[in-house]
Amino acid sequence: MANNKKAFITGISGQDGSYLTELLLDKGYEIAGFVRRNAALDFGNANAIKDEVKIYYGDLHSPESIALALLDFKPDEIYNLASLSSPLGSFSDKLGTIMITGIGALHVFERAKQIVPEARVYQASTSEMFGAPTQVPQNEETPLAPVNPYAAAKEFAHRMAHIARNDRKQPQFISCGILFNHESPRRGLNFVTRKITTAVACIKNNKREGIPMNEIGEPIVKNGKVTLGDLEAKRDWGFAPDYVEIMWKMLQTEEADDFVVATGEVHTVEEFAKEAFEVAGLNFKDHVETDPHFIPPVQTGPLCGDASKAKRILGWQPKTNFKELVKIMVHADLAKFS
Ligand code: NAP
Repeated sequence: MANNKKAFITGISGQDGSYLTELLLDKGYEIAGFVRRNAALDFGNANAIKDEVKIYYGDLHSPESIALALLDFKPDEIYNLASLSSPLGSFSDKLGTIMITGIGALHVFERAKQIVPEARVYQASTSEMFGAPTQVPQNEETPLAPVNPYAAAKEFAHRMAHIARNDRKQPQFISCGILFNHESPRRGLNFVTRKITTAVACIKNNKREGIPMNEIGEPIVKNGKVTLGDLEAKRDWGFAPDYVEIMWKMLQTEEADDFVVATGEVHTVEEFAKEAFEVAGLNFKDHVETDPHFIPPVQTGPLCGDASKAKRILGWQPKTNFKELVKIMVHADLAKFS
């Protein structure tokens, strides 16, 4: 059912962009997606819904491409989800990370202010901005102290959002979701959870060909084993479809604000691996090895979020628990890598 509202989504081909698009289409929104042109004209996770959205080709590097899309589409809501989103990967492309994840967000805010000043903006901030916090759990008041280039770029965008929000002459409605890790079968293969569930599937299905590559260009599974980094790293993992719902909720409030979005439950990478292999009837100890190459130079965490403000003000709470999340991801990959 149409609701006459228009949403413009950067990063629509990513994990969150695709789930958010599905949610907003269900709510009757008209959607435009901002995508980087690639040779294969592939829309990633948004392939299945690409015919239901208007596509604008562009790049967060290019303020002109953002401006042209906003001028033509004139959205009511803008969801800025595009970024180079791998904390580990950001160490090998610091400048690219700053330019896209940090300055790119500022381009979105500035062009929106000039072209569609009434549009409400959602900025995808991250728990990574907390760095290695001494305060556990973290909430909206926890000091930001990023320890990787990705988080530093996100902090810049987060602070620019606050500056735009507090502008006395022309305040902008920009809400920031400080989202803790959220996963799904659409998570990039360079993230540890998806790497594990892909490996479980390839091992269980005895797959010999078509095994996806890891972030250093080697098959994720070699000789029946997957190589991970720090098994003791602690994260608060939720399910992505639960998390996109609150992005929308954040733009329906009276005033722009920041919200921590998390489950409040922490698990180690080892616990995730143990659970994932168990779902497939395997013992992780037989299939997991570690390599310091996959450990970032500076460690983040422990990250554990206190989402009580989101619950109190937006009535939000996660629906999917850790075991369910792992099961969903393993089953999806068992079917995908059969
Ligand atoms: P994702 O799957 O990595 O998607 C990132 C998206 O950004 C992709 O669509 C990608 O397009 C696009 N993009 C990258 N560089 C671009 C550029 N220069 N111009 C335009 N688009 C560009 O990320 P996600 O997991 O959906 O996360 C969504 C947002 O939330 C990101 O900003 C992420 O940093 C943030 N976040 C995520 C989590 C999490 O746990 N997932 C937690 C906190 C915050 P291509 O398809 O062309 O690569």
